[in-house]
Amino acid sequence: MGKKLGQHFLRNKEILKRIVEVSEINSSDTVVEIGAGMGDLTEFLIEKAKEVIAIEIDPALFKILKERFFSKENLKLVNLDALKFPYEELPNFKVVANIPYYITKPIIFRLIELKNLLSMTVTLQKEVAERIIAKPKTKAYSLLTIIVQYYTTADLKFYIPPHFFTPPPEVTSAVVKIDRRDTPAVEVEDEKLFFKVVRSAFSKRRKTISNSLKSIVDEPKAFLLNIGIDPMKRAEELSIEDFAKISNRLTILKK
Ligand code: SAM
Repeated sequence: MGKKLGQHFLRNKEILKRIVEVSEINSSDTVVEIGAGMGDLTEFLIEKAKEVIAIEIDPALFKILKERFFSKENLKLVNLDALKFPYEELPNFKVVANIPYYITKPIIFRLIELKNLLSMTVTLQKEVAERIIAKPKTKAYSLLTIIVQYYTTADLKFYIPPHFFTPPPEVTSAVVKIDRRDTPAVEVEDEKLFFKVVRSAFSKRRKTISNSLKSIVDEPKAFLLNIGIDPMKRAEELSIEDFAKISNRLTILKK
């Protein structure tokens, strides 16, 4: 059960303090913690924030949390799968969490589009962190990169080696601070289409962009040349601006 739920506890006070520090939470913030575990990070969060909502799926840990924090008025404990929590109903909020690794991506995809999410300071696998902050023309540049960078700016703050966790996970972790942009990184006419293009390009990242657009546009080569994009390029060589250019021109053609 422990392994399945990604239960690797971070109990080192110095590291927990650094996480809270880089999260820049303050006494006017509503903070959501995903996977509160035994409450070591929670303890620091309730000192700093106006209110904390700590979500924990495991009933045994939830009982520990209830007992540990029974008198804390600014803490709401929720025994639920974090993927099922109604974040839309919250006031503006920040997430600070040591995310259970098996749900890293679903959690990011669940939260990233929310307008009431101000920031996320999350501990996750180094490899995922590097994909989040990746630049074009690198191996780490991926669908996740574009989705996160479209809505937010992301900054890798520091790494945490496995031995700081109990039990230690197999991989190194990293703390990433993700801040919602006031407006998305690029102007996109039709977001659904934009993400369809990006998804299609990265699902066949070895293929040229011309090839992966075949299912979306009739004559991809001519279409790309027309907007000044080399049809022989692959997804990882295209910037977020290039993807916006492609999807915006497709939107015009469809009208
Ligand atoms: N915050 C604690 C810490 O830093 O030591 C625990 C972090 S541990 C990596 C992840 C925690 O998330 C575990 O306590 C686990 O039970 C909980 N968890 C796993 N899946 C969850 C889910 N779907 N929803 C909410 N909590 C979950």
